[in-house]
Amino acid sequence: MNFLEERIIRDGVVKPGNVLKVDSFLNHQMDIALMEEIGREFKRRFAGKRVDKVITIEASGIGIAAFVAKEFGVPMVFAKKSKSINIDGDMFVAEVESFTHKNKNQVIISKKFLHAGEHVLIIDDFLANGCALQGLIFIAESADAVVEGCGIVIEKGFQYGGRAIRNMGYHLESLAIVEAMDAESGTIVFREQ
Ligand code: 5GP
Repeated sequence: MNFLEERIIRDGVVKPGNVLKVDSFLNHQMDIALMEEIGREFKRRFAGKRVDKVITIEASGIGIAAFVAKEFGVPMVFAKKSKSINIDGDMFVAEVESFTHKNKNQVIISKKFLHAGEHVLIIDDFLANGCALQGLIFIAESADAVVEGCGIVIEKGFQYGGRAIRNMGYHLESLAIVEAMDAESGTIVFREQ
């Protein structure tokens, strides 16, 4: 087991509805030493890639992506969720359905902060059905940026997002892949990587 899998076993809580709660160390309270380790691990996994910018989606991707961007020495840009319908032409827009909240949001990145020819690394906390990641990929490609890869902290391998993104040919690295989990017994099984 790697450092993250160990932490998930120790402090993660399996909830009904295929939700893994990791809010004691990742997406409510954040363990900063762990964030640093996550940043270093993504740097190692995407070593040799050209990364000009790290992009993510608010809210829970921001903290993680900041540590990854620091490792690469590049800016981080997060897509903002926007309910407004009068989005002007100064923004790249994608529609994203939230797995946890079951609602749809438009997410936007200003054209000021993403440019044609930039090489981007996309980072997020969880990968379930892949809507968030596909939205970010859509925005990057709308900008004619180059998606160098996608880095996910926790992929739920029993949901279809990971397979879809890999089948599309993207380089996807997930630090932990949950193969199965059970809310009643609390058991979590990881995929061997
Ligand atoms: P997807 O768009 O891949 O279906 O879902 C990914 C997004 O939903 C992530 O950005 C994350 O915020 C949230 N999410 C999905 N599954 C879980 C989960 O099991 N636990 C938590 N805490 N967030 C999740």
